[in-house]
Amino acid sequence: MRVEEIRGRLRDAARVTVLTGAGVSAGSGVPTFRGAGGLWRNRQAQQLATPEAFAENPTLVWEWYDWRRQIISACAPNAAHEVIARWSQRPGFTLVTQNVDGLHERAGTRQVVRYHGSIWRLRCAAECNREDAEWEDLGVPIDPLPPRCPRCGGLARPAVVWFGEPIPLAAARGAQAATACDVFLSIDT
Ligand SMILES: [Zn+2]
Repeated sequence: MRVEEIRGRLRDAARVTVLTGAGVSAGSGVPTFRGAGGLWRNRQAQQLATPEAFAENPTLVWEWYDWRRQIISACAPNAAHEVIARWSQRPGFTLVTQNVDGLHERAGTRQVVRYHGSIWRLRCAAECNREDAEWEDLGVPIDPLPPRCPRCGGLARPAVVWFGEPIPLAAARGAQAATACDVFLSIDT
């Protein structure tokens, strides 16, 4: 499709949905944290981003997330993030992202459905408070490690989707609703 044609479609669309994946963040220098480049202390993401790994050694899992948060905090949104942030100012726009790094939000994007959660948000590992389950924590390095639930004092966990876990209901609904659109762009996923 020619650029002019795409431009016309975007201009005429009442509802635009964009889906982004790791490739968009790679442009900012964020590692995928999978594969050879994502090894940490000789462990792979699949060995750390699981409920089982957290149950076995929450401190180890948090040290890995703390390392990732430090890397991500040193990265800046790139041109793709900036363009999507500008698009998000139009009515009927929704961004669904698989990225947990928060770079879309830092670029100013509104209407973000965080399909896999956010590395900058925490929730109680014991789910003591279902009403207001998540909170933001931008601390780098995170302190204390492992962080605690302010309500019950138990362990907090990253509010991200781990291997083997379902997509949170609100995100699944938000993404489903966003598929009713005139233009759907899938970028680097
Ligand atoms: Zn709690």
